[in-house]
Amino acid sequence: MKNQKSERTCRKCGACCKNLLIEIFESDLVLSPSLRPFANAKHKFPEDTERIYSLPSPCPMLNKKGQCDIYLTRPGVCRGFTPNSRQCRMARQMSDKRRKYVEI
Ligand code: SF4
Ligand code: SF4
Repeated sequence: MKNQKSERTCRKCGACCKNLLIEIFESDLVLSPSLRPFANAKHKFPEDTERIYSLPSPCPMLNKKGQCDIYLTRPGVCRGFTPNSRQCRMARQMSDKRRKYVEI
C-alpha cells in the first residue's frame, strides 16, 4: 500500500503556478497588494460577495528559482491547492508536454 502522506507531498515543481488559471478575490489583493497590478478584474456574479480577478499565466509571483515570492501571503486558492490532486497532475502533464515540445 502506498504511503498516503508521500502521495500528498508537493514536488515543488511550480507546474500549478505556471499552467493553471489562478482566480483570486479582492481580499487576496488586500493581503498581497503586489498582486494588484497583474490582477485582471472579471465579472462579479450576483451570488459572489467579492469581485473575482484572474492572474496571468505563469503567475508573475513565481520567481526564477520556482518559488512563490509572496508565499506567506499567497491567495487562498494557492493555500488550498492539494498536491497530487487531479488539477496538480493535469498541471504537471502540461509542463511535461511543453518540455517535450521544446526538446523536439
Ligand atoms: S503542480 Fe502539484 S506538485 Fe507541483 S508545485 Fe503544484 S502542487 Fe506541488
Ligand atoms: S501566488 Fe504564489 S503560489 Fe499562487 S500561483 Fe502565484 S506563485 Fe503560485
